[in-house]
Amino acid sequence: MDCVFCKIIAGEIPGDFLYKDNELVAFRDINPIAPTHILIVPIKHISSLLEITDTDLPMIGHMVKVGNDLAKRENIAERGYRLVINCGKEGTQLVQHLHMHLLGGRQLSGRVG
Ligand code: AMP
Ligand code: ZN
Repeated sequence: MDCVFCKIIAGEIPGDFLYKDNELVAFRDINPIAPTHILIVPIKHISSLLEITDTDLPMIGHMVKVGNDLAKRENIAERGYRLVINCGKEGTQLVQHLHMHLLGGRQLSGRVG
């Protein structure tokens, strides 16, 4: 499958990994838009938020927990941070493998969109 995140997970292209368990990985975004910009990514290829099923719901909670834990590890938790999942064309999703962005380390824009 021609999926950049599947290739990173498989070790076929490099990733700056910060976390791995049996369900998720986290690695730094290659083009960071904030001092902390980490992607939390399911190992299983799911193309977007729209494709999740009821059995994936615990994994979404797991993604949020890993995002929170990484925010603490990056020392941005108390200052505040943002967890974002883009979905689809107008949601500006560029990589068609479900992922959540952890953004922080600077005052983020008040405009989410
Ligand atoms: P999205 O617009 O939500 O699909 O975000 C995709 C993100 O993946 C962007 O922030 C990209 O900078 C990031 N990205 C693309 N290729 C790589 C890569 N090889 N390693 C790390 N991050 C990547
Ligand atoms: Zn994939």
